Amino acid sequence: MSKSSLLILKRTIKHPIHVNIMKEYTGRVRSFIFLWYLIVLYPSCQSPTKENKMNERPEETYYGLEDFNNLKKYDAHVHLRTDFDTLFLRQAAEDNFGLLNVSVYTSPDITPEEQEDFSLKLLRQFPEKVAYATTFSLEGYHEEDWESKTMAYLEKSISNGAIAVKVWKNIGMELKDDNDEFVMIDDERFDGILQLLIEKDITLLGHLGEPKNTWLPLDEMTVQGDRDYFSENPKYHMYNFPDFPTYEDQIDARDRMLAKHPDLRFVGAHLGSLEYDVEELAKRLDQYPNMAVDMAERISHLQYQAITNWQGVHDFLVNYQDRLIYGTDLRTGASDIQAKALTQPEEIMQHAHEVWLRHWEFFTSGEEMEVPKVTGKFKGMKLPREVVDKIYRTNAEKWYPMLSH
Ligand SMILES: [Zn+2]
Repeated sequence: MSKSSLLILKRTIKHPIHVNIMKEYTGRVRSFIFLWYLIVLYPSCQSPTKENKMNERPEETYYGLEDFNNLKKYDAHVHLRTDFDTLFLRQAAEDNFGLLNVSVYTSPDITPEEQEDFSLKLLRQFPEKVAYATTFSLEGYHEEDWESKTMAYLEKSISNGAIAVKVWKNIGMELKDDNDEFVMIDDERFDGILQLLIEKDITLLGHLGEPKNTWLPLDEMTVQGDRDYFSENPKYHMYNFPDFPTYEDQIDARDRMLAKHPDLRFVGAHLGSLEYDVEELAKRLDQYPNMAVDMAERISHLQYQAITNWQGVHDFLVNYQDRLIYGTDLRTGASDIQAKALTQPEEIMQHAHEVWLRHWEFFTSGEEMEVPKVTGKFKGMKLPREVVDKIYRTNAEKWYPMLSH
């Protein structure tokens, strides 16, 4: 065998050995990676990291239907005007709700003074269960002493225990000045009153404007509650009054008032009349940090949006969790057909209970739901406990600071 052929033989022998070593090495690396995956990676995929836990909450961070009675809650927008209405207070006691009774100046009905007297009576009878928002008369608005008289009246109400002052949609839709022009909420004659509220640390609760549906024909309105209300109350159905201020005029006047009084603590009743689109409402909440909204009689609008945009509604409720206050607008003789037909005390209490429970289900469960005011199915919001706590209790205490005193 020549020297060169011996070398070739050596190489041929060496080569398979080299390959074998390489194979063995690769095999070991593979086993090591596999073991490392088993020991380190696999368990960390299975048991969530802190961040994963935030996204996939374990069941115990949600409330269930069984928690409804245990949690202390507020319905921060009801109207109790007669002894008969104390039925709502009886049901509220059973369902663990405190109530904010809201006075409204709806001339020529019951006067603000009469409503206040009744609220004070409730306050004496049920001090733990009820608080009240006062309001003021617009009668004599054109007279010179109206502003000073109104301020004196409000000072007295506040010293009597009112925790908020309510203004209503008749500002913007009914009240006119000497030139026959509509008076809007940014009118300078309200400035002194709003300044008084700032000084007294009292919240302004404003039902200003109406749902956008009000400017549509009945058959184009998005929710049954609005169709019922505006067929019952045609004088507020703005579709019939093209010469009145528009929907945008109402929202703009409210926004100008907020811009003019940045220190005023403001709760926009009924989702601030921006019920039709959570994104529009989000814009205003971003723009006016001293503004929150109550949900009274507009939860159906969130449900309506949830049919096609569940995620958008859910994200809105989570992102603005410090600015949303639960309320219903419960009252006897309510215009929705279901409530209107009820006359017996047990039926009225049962209805209040069902309304409260349905809303609780909407906010806490992730179940598919159908409700009387909305055509179509939608899923519940399944909000985390801390968001539910804020909506049902702590936001009301924060935005109406004297509520819990
Ligand atoms: Zn109301």
